[in-house]
Amino acid sequence: SPARKPLMAGNWKMHYTHLEAIAHVQKLAFILSEADYERVEVAVLPPFTAIRSVQTLVDGDKLPIRYGAQDVSPYPSGAYTGDISAGMLAKLGCSYVIVGHSERRHYHHENDELINAKVRAVIGAEMTPILCVGEPLDVRRSGRHVEFTLGQLDADLAGLSAEQVASLVIAYEPVWAIGTGEVATPKDAQEVCAAIRARLAESFGDAAARSARILYGGSVKSDNAGGIMEEPDVDGALVGGASLDAEEFARIVRYD
Ligand code: PEP
Repeated sequence: SPARKPLMAGNWKMHYTHLEAIAHVQKLAFILSEADYERVEVAVLPPFTAIRSVQTLVDGDKLPIRYGAQDVSPYPSGAYTGDISAGMLAKLGCSYVIVGHSERRHYHHENDELINAKVRAVIGAEMTPILCVGEPLDVRRSGRHVEFTLGQLDADLAGLSAEQVASLVIAYEPVWAIGTGEVATPKDAQEVCAAIRARLAESFGDAAARSARILYGGSVKSDNAGGIMEEPDVDGALVGGASLDAEEFARIVRYD
């Protein structure tokens, strides 16, 4: 839909020191033009340790690149050694925070109750969650991928208002397609993204469903981005591996 500006977000995962991060964003900014930023919103999601450096570069050069974090604590402050609060991220100028990435769900045993608390913390600090949902391979094989993904969505968004949902970003990331080179077909992506939008309409109303952005994530590259972006309910991509190469990420931003 023309009303929803496409978002291409690069999830760097655990890559790049703060110095490498600066070099990478400089390279990206050198390639991208005003026309690109007008057509597509561009965001990078560095590790915590590089966010301050990215902020300094983006602010100093007035770059139209948004940035954010890959995770957040559900708590505002306190005795939570090693954690980072939403308030701390907001203070660094973060626009986005990934919540519920499958690697967090898997390696850190994050459940939907915790993810719901993190979504609320991010919204409470006036940033936008990029909420990740999606099924593992065995669920896909059983044919219950829509039901599974909508179950995560319901739990992760419990208690939110229509207004809060309207500004959300949701990323449909089938676990079997993340970092595997196995990309969902555009039809697979559309099937679940459309089901997510229909569920948002049911639970939060048509206006919220029309305005929330739904991304696809899972082995997106420049040679498959165009096909995925043709689907009516896919509003962008959450890009892992391919976002680590500035030229390749720029080609994804310029999908056609
Ligand atoms: C991700 O980590 O969100 C992701 C989609 O990774 P990749 O693009 O490498 O599959």
